[in-house]
Amino acid sequence: MTPRRPLCCVLCDEPCHDVKQINPETGAILRAGPAFPGTQEVRLALLSGAYATMTLCAGCEFTPERIPHAWRRCHLAAMERVRGDEQKRAEVLRQFRDVPLGVLTVRPSPLGKGAGQGVLG
Ligand SMILES: [Zn+2]
Repeated sequence: MTPRRPLCCVLCDEPCHDVKQINPETGAILRAGPAFPGTQEVRLALLSGAYATMTLCAGCEFTPERIPHAWRRCHLAAMERVRGDEQKRAEVLRQFRDVPLGVLTVRPSPLGKGAGQGVLG
């Protein structure tokens, strides 16, 4: 399993967002543009009562069976982002100890909003 790519579909890595600014040295995304038309926003209910939001491309369908796979890919990506930083690593581990219970909503991604990327993207 590979980590999900930032600003891409959580299932298939198809790019889902415009990228406005990239750090030329590290290649890290500094600023995200709006989601592409047709992309979907999936909101998962978590055991803790919080929720997590993920982006899906226009071609993928999110089913409950895909939750563990998507969650694991987000976890791997988050661990990669904090590599070398023990404190942030502990935070990510805590965060992903939460358990996704099910899909709350699947709706079109908010368009025209220069949304920054949340922890889960
Ligand atoms: Zn996809």
